[in-house]
Amino acid sequence: MTSTGIEGFDYVIVGAGSAGCVLADRLSRDDRVRVLLLEAGGPDTDELIHIPAALGMLFGSHTDWSYRTVEQPQPGRAFSWPRGKTLGGSSSTNVMIYTRGNRHDYDSWRDEHGAKGWGYDDILPYFMKSESNHRLGEPYHGSDGPLHVEDRAYTHELSQSWLDAAVEWGMDRNDDFAGASCVGAGLYQVTCHHGRRWSTADAYLRPALGRPNLTVRTSAVATKITLDGSRAAGITYLRDGQERTAHADREILLCGGSINSPQLLLLSGIGDPDELHDVGIDVRVPLPGVGRNLQDHLMAPVVWETRNSTDIVRDLLTPDNLERWRTHGDGPFASNYGEVGAFLNVTDGQSRPDVQLVGGATALILSGEEGPDRPVFTMNCVPLHPQTRGTVRLASPDPQAPPLIDPRYFDVPADASVMVAGLRAVMDIAHRAPFAEYLARSYLPASDDLDGLDDAALEEHVRRWSATAYHPVGTCAMGTGHDSVVNSDLEVYGVERLRVVDASVMPTVISGNTNAPTIMIAEKAAERIG
Ligand SMILES: Cc1cc2nc3c(=O)[nH]c(=O)nc-3n(C[C@H](O)[C@H](O)[C@H](O)COP(=O)(O)OP(=O)(O)OC[C@H]3O[C@@H](n4cnc5c(N)ncnc54)[C@H](O)[C@@H]3O)c2cc1C
Repeated sequence: MTSTGIEGFDYVIVGAGSAGCVLADRLSRDDRVRVLLLEAGGPDTDELIHIPAALGMLFGSHTDWSYRTVEQPQPGRAFSWPRGKTLGGSSSTNVMIYTRGNRHDYDSWRDEHGAKGWGYDDILPYFMKSESNHRLGEPYHGSDGPLHVEDRAYTHELSQSWLDAAVEWGMDRNDDFAGASCVGAGLYQVTCHHGRRWSTADAYLRPALGRPNLTVRTSAVATKITLDGSRAAGITYLRDGQERTAHADREILLCGGSINSPQLLLLSGIGDPDELHDVGIDVRVPLPGVGRNLQDHLMAPVVWETRNSTDIVRDLLTPDNLERWRTHGDGPFASNYGEVGAFLNVTDGQSRPDVQLVGGATALILSGEEGPDRPVFTMNCVPLHPQTRGTVRLASPDPQAPPLIDPRYFDVPADASVMVAGLRAVMDIAHRAPFAEYLARSYLPASDDLDGLDDAALEEHVRRWSATAYHPVGTCAMGTGHDSVVNSDLEVYGVERLRVVDASVMPTVISGNTNAPTIMIAEKAAERIG
């Protein structure tokens, strides 16, 4: 491998994902600073990225890191972990659901983890600054930010019918999951614009690309942070088979996400000394929390075969409907599959929700199975506050080798119990009018008597069929605890001029989807940095 010379910038950003694109835009608005944005993946030119209903085709493609966890002892299998690898990162490959969690999530970051300045009242302005919501406004929503959020341009009749059944069952209808309270049932808003995916590359990066002070390099894999004593001086990266170095006069900003940011710190000798010795990496800064505290949301499905409805989304993906989407931005190609859902409490009756439901008229069986070749409806249950904590560790000192991802799913038995309670709610709701009329039979769990299944059988179902809900966080946790990696300004402990700005800094996973909170984190960080 050949080496080329050193280039100089003020800021070097690693990763053009949900957070990295925000920083690239906000920092380069000051034309006196030179910003370099490095992205391991390629440009986001593939039309499949932009068609909401094509999201399943991105799994395992060139836009996916296609990670797998290590074998998980409790369920006895490894789990597939997709992560976006293109401009926009996972915001270019995700399910586009727009939620934020609730007040308690952020107040507990502040009060229980020492994340000063990250309580709900502190962070709400940054959600609003980022957002351009097509239906909702103040006091919770922004209307002139870069990130378009809209009601989906297509909703299948079964999703609407499930929502009516959830209300019939006793849930409040909630038309704003990101407003005063997320509790209740409703149709999800999505990060789309006129029916087209709206990633952070669309929202933030594309409008900034013409600036002479912003350099964007795709297919550029950062391999190491170069340290000058205790100061972060530059980034070494691979591109076109060459090793290059970019020097940062001001700061290096890691935005590689919850797997790759801790990986890069570890590759650079910043982490637990014993773990680094084990893989033959010299310790530069002992920081045991790097890669620990991994948290993720799991989801488990109930799938029914349905009758008497129009075709399900999968069967509506015809050339005519594609043309309709291209021309008008609506129709079935504008579906994100996870069209409808709810936030509710199933274990202790308090108002703070402990599960999220996400479903639609398709086989959303994310552990791999395709589902039957017949009409189906899926409702997934996602426990919101997993107690299990896992790790991201290096398998080897080779920067191109995937790290060892070990979420330790179900190590804490209570995580499975919440799932079982949530699935009972899912099955109860399905019996209510008008949705019950559409049910032909249960496909998953496969049982003639779904309600007759005891807790042990449902727990078995959970272990067999649950899959990641794609929300890993916490591996470079913000706070003041023993395992904290960054302080409340997101600066890495023990290293000057180095911050982590992405989903990995969340000390605990929020009660919902993690894209909007990651964008909020980057908006707030940009103000501190710039
Ligand atoms: C399939 C899927 C579905 C999801 N659905 C939803 C949803 O519906 N709603 C929601 O709110 N959230 C959802 N999420 C989660 C949400 O998208 C993520 O939490 C969020 O995008 C994380 O942002 P990030 O900036 O931390 O990382 P990412 O957006 O993943 O960005 C990291 C970027 O860094 C790049 N990178 C990594 N390592 C290097 C390196 N060494 N050198 C250079 N570049 C590097 C990556 O290629 C990537 O582009 C989903 C995620 C996935 C994967």
